[in-house]
Amino acid sequence: MNLTRLLFVAIGAGIVSAQNQPVLSEETTKVSEHVWAIMGFPNIGIVIGSRATLVVDTGMGPSNGATIARVVGKLAPGNRKLFLTTTHFHPEHAAGEAGFPPGTILIRDAIQQQEMELHGKEMVDLFAGRSPQQKELLANATLRTPDVTFSNEAVVDLGGVTARLLWFGGAHTKGDELILVELDRTLISGDVVQNKVVPNIFGDGGTASSWLAVLDKIAALNVLHVLPDHSAPGDGSMVASEKQFISDLRNRALELKKNGVSAADAGKQLSVEFKTKYPDWPSMNVAGFVRSIYAE
Ligand SMILES: [Zn+2]
Ligand SMILES: [Zn+2]
Repeated sequence: MNLTRLLFVAIGAGIVSAQNQPVLSEETTKVSEHVWAIMGFPNIGIVIGSRATLVVDTGMGPSNGATIARVVGKLAPGNRKLFLTTTHFHPEHAAGEAGFPPGTILIRDAIQQQEMELHGKEMVDLFAGRSPQQKELLANATLRTPDVTFSNEAVVDLGGVTARLLWFGGAHTKGDELILVELDRTLISGDVVQNKVVPNIFGDGGTASSWLAVLDKIAALNVLHVLPDHSAPGDGSMVASEKQFISDLRNRALELKKNGVSAADAGKQLSVEFKTKYPDWPSMNVAGFVRSIYAE
């Protein structure tokens, strides 16, 4: 292996490992005028106004929450008020709340909170069972009641910039929340709009059609920047690409279903087919999503 190739491999590995890294670093990336991110598992969004700061997602467990709180203190030392919201109830997105300082105002949509009450603890136990590292990270996780819940929309005024917290319907989960920083035309998209990542409906979350309906509402927001949870930030075209992929896959899966192909066989066949159709996507296992389409 020559040096150039070695370098490429190292850079590639660096990007991949940051995206899978459940211990967050204090390094930030600027996404748009008021929005920063810590890249990791998952990416954390930080929206900064003149008086207050909004953090989107907690990282896995309280020590990650504390890391984010430190970063926020450095980015905006004068802001007294800290708001925290979560894109959905899964542990890497929501189980780090205990690491934030007392007085942090926790907000999420009501459907997400329902899922948290039904399955939050069960998910923490599931994730803790996956590795000794995750067990340690989640050891002191608590899932407290939010200070504010909302049905469809909440507006948070941060001073000179507002964030709209939106619930458009079920996709990856039932309670997926989207965060729009209108002034920057930036969307923090959770798992709903990703950058070349095969979508995944978790448990009894949304359906392929409800996901498409959510994407239509997002498209109408006409954003310029998208910060997703488990992939690289990109421009507004990510919204159309997500829709293209899901409708394409849905159409093909329904065709195969009509022809009597089993869900398992369709999953295998379409994984190969879509690998050719979408050659720049790093991995292409569509079996799970095909199962969701068959079940709808
Ligand atoms: Zn999730
Ligand atoms: Zn996620």
